Amino acid sequence: MEQRNNISAEHIAGIEDIYRTLVEELPLPVALYVGKDMRVTQVNNSLLKVWGKGTDVIGKTFREALPELEGQPFYDILDEVYASGIPYQAAEDRVDLFIDGRMQTFYFNFTYKPLKDEKGNVWGILNTATDVTELILTRKKLEEAQENSNLALKAADLGTWVMDPSTNFVSLDSRARELFGYQDNEVREFDDSLKIVHPEDRDYVELAIQKALDPDSDHACDVKFKTVSANDKQQYLRCVGKAYFDDQGNILRFAGTVEDITEETLAQKELTKFLALIENSQDLIGMTDMQGNVVYMNKAGQNLVGAACAEDYRRPSTDFLVREDLDRFSSAMKVGMATEGRFSGEIRYKHLQTGEQIPCYINAFIITDPDTNKPLGMASVTRDLREEKTRLKEQQKLIALVENSKDLMSILEQDGINSYLNKAGKELLGFDSDEEVKTTPIAKLHAPEDIAFVEREVIPSIQTKGSWSGVMNVRNLKTGEIFPVFNSTIRIDDVATGEPACIGAIMRDLRPEIAAKQELADREKLFRDITTASPVALWMTGTNTELTYINQVWIDWTNTPLEEQLGFGWTKFIVDEDKERVRNLFRSDFEQRRPHECQYRLIDANGRERWMICSGNPQYKVDGTFIGYIGTCVDITELKQLQRQKDEFLGIASHELKTPVTSIKAYAQVLESMFRDSGDERKADMVKKMDAQVNRLTNLIGDLLDVTKIQTGKLQFNDCEFDFNTLVKELAEDLQRTTRKHHIILELDATGTIFADKERIGQVITNLITNAIKYSPNADKIVIFTKKEKDEVRLCVQDFGIGIPDDKKDKVFEQFYRVSGDKQHTFPGLGLGLYISSEIIKREGGKIWVTSIEGRGSTFCFSLPLNRKGN
Ligand code: ADP
Repeated sequence: MEQRNNISAEHIAGIEDIYRTLVEELPLPVALYVGKDMRVTQVNNSLLKVWGKGTDVIGKTFREALPELEGQPFYDILDEVYASGIPYQAAEDRVDLFIDGRMQTFYFNFTYKPLKDEKGNVWGILNTATDVTELILTRKKLEEAQENSNLALKAADLGTWVMDPSTNFVSLDSRARELFGYQDNEVREFDDSLKIVHPEDRDYVELAIQKALDPDSDHACDVKFKTVSANDKQQYLRCVGKAYFDDQGNILRFAGTVEDITEETLAQKELTKFLALIENSQDLIGMTDMQGNVVYMNKAGQNLVGAACAEDYRRPSTDFLVREDLDRFSSAMKVGMATEGRFSGEIRYKHLQTGEQIPCYINAFIITDPDTNKPLGMASVTRDLREEKTRLKEQQKLIALVENSKDLMSILEQDGINSYLNKAGKELLGFDSDEEVKTTPIAKLHAPEDIAFVEREVIPSIQTKGSWSGVMNVRNLKTGEIFPVFNSTIRIDDVATGEPACIGAIMRDLRPEIAAKQELADREKLFRDITTASPVALWMTGTNTELTYINQVWIDWTNTPLEEQLGFGWTKFIVDEDKERVRNLFRSDFEQRRPHECQYRLIDANGRERWMICSGNPQYKVDGTFIGYIGTCVDITELKQLQRQKDEFLGIASHELKTPVTSIKAYAQVLESMFRDSGDERKADMVKKMDAQVNRLTNLIGDLLDVTKIQTGKLQFNDCEFDFNTLVKELAEDLQRTTRKHHIILELDATGTIFADKERIGQVITNLITNAIKYSPNADKIVIFTKKEKDEVRLCVQDFGIGIPDDKKDKVFEQFYRVSGDKQHTFPGLGLGLYISSEIIKREGGKIWVTSIEGRGSTFCFSLPLNRKGN
């Protein structure tokens, strides 16, 4: 200060000038306000420019110089600085100034510095300022831009992420953290953050990142992936990122956005499902534009009309429809579309290749743009009715079947009323019309006690078991008659829900059956009465030889009830000696379905022995099925007794006759030789004839005696060895003498000797030759063959006579049997010769048989065993 005082005033003035100029030209705004009223004593150009004022402000108070600052804090601040002596500094303060005729906003960093005298009193204020308006505005713009981008991110619900390759850490903004499910603010390693990607998508995401981080790629990546969501909710994210590289190809930054695409992904998936649904629908689904050109047709549609690809179906929809149907429907279609925007009906489609007309049900409607409400095109869903139509036809056939069934058929609804009753049912229950059926509760179709039964037994059974069948009573509405029916019911369930829907019933009127059963019972009774009235026992077996029926006659004989006779119960009354034989014969006849005949003895209820002759025949149904045997048993005890008496009589008579006849024969022979000796040839011849008749008589008596011996088992045999052919020759020679007409021809094989009763075998041969002569009156030869075969010797006598009818052949060996007919009296005889012959041969262990053709001749043969001697 002292030094200053020493400096000359001129010098000071010069310095002041320099200083003023300096200040004036300073680019930094500067002003000096002096005194309490803040008179502007100095202000440089820079500040004047800021203020938008001229130099005329110099000398004015601050308030006068800048009246527009009224209402802004500056006057007060200056006063405060002046009063307090404390400098004021402001950074980026807003100042509104009147410049170029309008208020404008500026920002300043400025200082009010108090200037004090030696005593420390403030005398002025130095105002320096820096205009930072530009800076502030730029920053504000930047901030705004940042805010806008934040807003955009926020609006798009985007999160951001940045990966710093130097640390390999990722930082996320709050939205990104939320989407990644991070609860904290922590930064994570890049690899760690990838754990959010679902394993399904991880490979794909990692590959995309690798690609973006490859300096040679486009550096961009855009991935959509599923997350491993902490809660089970599905979450899909989309990350779009870009990698930044320096000139050397070093990665600087990898950053981008993340957004939640769960909703649209799920919606997309739903849409894909819908599209698949449409594409694979069994129904034809198609779409046309507003001009009626098909733009889409699903698979089923393409199949239906025979379109192989989109080119095939992209044509006017009318191409697919049958012309006549189009004409028929066109007005209805137009009206439907115009009024309701839809049309449905049955229409025939046309197959593009085959031209087949396919009945379909179409449901077409207009599709409108939901935003503008303008029609976009037309869609149609069409069902192929072919199968339905065939099913309908089948159904109609079934209905016809049901309707015309002889049995009642009905459908009973849950309200207890029949919704359907077929023709037979209406007749049976006395209904006149379907209308009547549908208004009549079933309670009216039963007597009160019967409906109670239905409610108690039938309905619960149907409900629980699904069916009921049995006999119940119904009532005819017209006649009131209550009658039994056999009812088969079944619960019919709803195909879709499985819930019981209704009850189906099939009823058969039992009245005809009952009447038939009654008739059968009556007939059976009549049959029993008839068989009981018969004097013979009648019996019946099943197919397995077991007795199933025997009438009262047998039951009376044995005094044992029917039940004990059934099966083989009846055989217990047969005497022990006969039992086995009877059973065997019965069985073997039965097995071969032969007519059965058997004689045996039975012990009756009184212990008496009765002789039975039982016979039966196999029975067949009309179709030829075997059903068992039916037969009879006749009591022949008396007959047997008479037979025995007759046999006894014959035995005695023939025996008694034999002695006188032998005497007569002896006298005759003596008489003959006496007449011959006396030369009375005529008398001698007469006695000779008498002798021949006596011979015949002897033979007859011999036969009768033999028969009685056979019957009583007294036929004696004296077997010895003899030459068979020699015997045959001797007998043939003898018998040749008795006939002049027949020539007996011998065709004998070497037979050798046999061991048998020579007399008896001779008797048989004689019988066969005499029969051959007797029964071939018009023939002239008889041929006798002998033959030795293995272990037997055989003889046959062939004649060319009357022969024997086929059905009589086997009977000729029976006692007293003679083939009846006109010839009966032509050929004398008793019918005993063959009977005795067959008994002899049987006794000698051989067989006898005949082959014959009626009118052409017979051949009687027998065979005898050769090896009997040793026995
Ligand atoms: P008969 O000859 O005494 O009547 P047979 O027992 O010898 O008795 O014969 C029984 C029956 O067999 C005869 O009545 C006859 O009808 C028949 N017959 C036997 N031999 C012959 C034959 N060679 N040709 C035709 N019929 C015969």
